[in-house]
Amino acid sequence: MVVYLASNPDIARIMTDPAIDIDLGTLLTRQATAAAGRPAVFLDRDGVLTEAFVRDGVPTPPRTQAEFRVLPGVAKACSGLRQAGFVLVVVTNQPDIARGTQDRAEVDKMNERLRSLVPLDEVCVCPHDDADGCACRKPRPGMLLDAADRLGLDLARSVSVGDRWRDIQAALRAGVTPIHLDRHYDERSPAGARAVLADLPEAAVWILEQKRAPEGGVR
Ligand SMILES: [Mg+2]
Ligand SMILES: [Zn+2]
Repeated sequence: MVVYLASNPDIARIMTDPAIDIDLGTLLTRQATAAAGRPAVFLDRDGVLTEAFVRDGVPTPPRTQAEFRVLPGVAKACSGLRQAGFVLVVVTNQPDIARGTQDRAEVDKMNERLRSLVPLDEVCVCPHDDADGCACRKPRPGMLLDAADRLGLDLARSVSVGDRWRDIQAALRAGVTPIHLDRHYDERSPAGARAVLADLPEAAVWILEQKRAPEGGVR
């Protein structure tokens, strides 16, 4: 147990400081709390994991299975993040389901294919549109918060990767560090990102570099 405690450099420092009276119970509680929540990377789907189709300057999801393609380097980036201890949760708005221009079954089939090609822990879909007033449609943080409860995630050490303002807003409202992938869409450029990068492989490198900070995850 002492070896386990001492493996946290912060606690090791406290334990070896003669001026600090060690309360083992407090240390154990603190260690257990930190270990209870795992950090996640929340991933937007279209334009992050899979190809988005720019129509009138705005990215749109693939309409058919034939259009559904995983972007280069995505599978490798995800397995690197997972090996580093991040839970990978896809959070995707699919309002075309509510609009009646896409079938839920087609979206589910695409997501099954995605899961067969990329190592992921969960895929969360919001099938609603603005008029539904749901809690899950980004920029609302519902999908991130629900996943955190279900999977026991530490939101403060988690990161989100998206290509639109809604992704950044949802992350900020959930207390998650937002990374923006700039795809040069013809729409308002989002504020609030911690980093602006080109693609998921670049984002994975950024996240893994931040993780070298003492307590792991990203703060
Ligand atoms: Mg997107
Ligand atoms: Zn929704």
